[in-house]
Amino acid sequence: MSVLVRSGVGQLCAVGRAAIPSIWRGKYFSSGNEPAENNPVTPMLRHLMYKIKSTGPITVAEYMKEVLTNPAKGYYVHRDMLGDKGDFITSPEISQIFGELLGIWFISEWMATGKSTAFQLVELGPGRGTLVGDILRVFSQLGSVLKNCDISVHLVEVSQKLSEVQALTLTEEKVPLERNAESPVYMKGVTKSGIPIFWYRDLHDVPKGHSFYLAHEFFDVLPVHKFQKTPQGWREVFIDIDPQVSDKLRFVLAPSATPAEVFIQHDETRDHIEVCPDAGVIIEELSRRIALTGGAALVADYGHDGTKTDTFRGFCGHKLHDVLIAPGTADLTADVDFSFLRRMAQGKVASLGPITQHTFLKNMGIDVRLKVLLDKSNEPSMKQQLLQGYDMLMNPKKMGERFNFFALLPHQRLQGGRDQMNARQSKPFASPVAGFSELAWQ
Ligand code: SAH
Repeated sequence: MSVLVRSGVGQLCAVGRAAIPSIWRGKYFSSGNEPAENNPVTPMLRHLMYKIKSTGPITVAEYMKEVLTNPAKGYYVHRDMLGDKGDFITSPEISQIFGELLGIWFISEWMATGKSTAFQLVELGPGRGTLVGDILRVFSQLGSVLKNCDISVHLVEVSQKLSEVQALTLTEEKVPLERNAESPVYMKGVTKSGIPIFWYRDLHDVPKGHSFYLAHEFFDVLPVHKFQKTPQGWREVFIDIDPQVSDKLRFVLAPSATPAEVFIQHDETRDHIEVCPDAGVIIEELSRRIALTGGAALVADYGHDGTKTDTFRGFCGHKLHDVLIAPGTADLTADVDFSFLRRMAQGKVASLGPITQHTFLKNMGIDVRLKVLLDKSNEPSMKQQLLQGYDMLMNPKKMGERFNFFALLPHQRLQGGRDQMNARQSKPFASPVAGFSELAWQ
């Protein structure tokens, strides 16, 4: 199908662009047991076999981490895997409307929380920079609303290749980028609309100022530990070298308990589960920051609310891929457990969701935005693209129900404060949070 391209800074208009295939990572499940026609010995496979031979079988989490983000050979580090020539497609790459509505969400939260004089927009795992580009275009369009606010952009990205793509998408060519590979801020520049922009490898290095955080299809790439219930208790799944077939990996069960078991709930009823400690660390950090300096975090991803079991899977060239075959050449992912994210935020900040992408975008006014773009466009092919993009994002059988939105907010945001006192009521009230309720400008 074909979709929309983002216009440059300026009008929020639709422009035709190349056809894209329609696979997205939330779509299917893989047991990792698909028959492998061939099993090329990739540099990553060689590295992992050497590691396993020297120190023994590795956890699924260690495998994911090495395969995806090893600084020398990791899947994410040296390639652009998004789009028709890559391995999968994401919502911001499908339609500009997605990023525009998220831009409106951040402005709406900024307004609801007292229109601070400055904020940082922080994105975790920004891919090609398309989403932040669409958000910044909305900020420019609503420049009169944001005119007294100092905005800066902070991108957390481990991929050298993608950070270059992001810089190309987002920055002003005439202002050279400052680079320092040794520094926690490895790149700095100025966006096309004149906003300072910074790159980091780790959220902990982003300054702790008042911030709005965004993570779209980021949590699903964080390493998961897999466990299986046995008569002896929980046992962790490890990856070992197959003794029967040369240069092949296989899953094995640990003979005794392993440390990541602490992440399993005492009353867990499933018999296979995946836990993601790194997601917990990031949610705790976001929660601490939001509790301290205000702001909000918006997380959008495919996932479940503590109900699914085996979701670890691979994608290569828009097809499912056996996770143990040719490591380093395919994306690895697992569904996000939103019930775990909620638990990790508890006590520090309030959380909302998960709610489906369909409901969130409906509440944000996707139908009105689609109509405006359809009315503006004269070309039938353009209208067709707009409608196809809308269908992909919203159709419950496509991305509409598999993808979810989840937010972290300061407790005061939902409880209301003195400055939000309703004159006719004795109790303070909080304004509804857009997306999780219908958008209403204050
Ligand atoms: N948000 C984008 C891209 C999703 S793909 C979109 O929706 O189109 C995942 C992104 O996270 C990529 O940019 C990848 O390089 C980045 N990434 C993966 N692991 C990471 C990590 N540990 N820290 C920071 N970024 C990471």
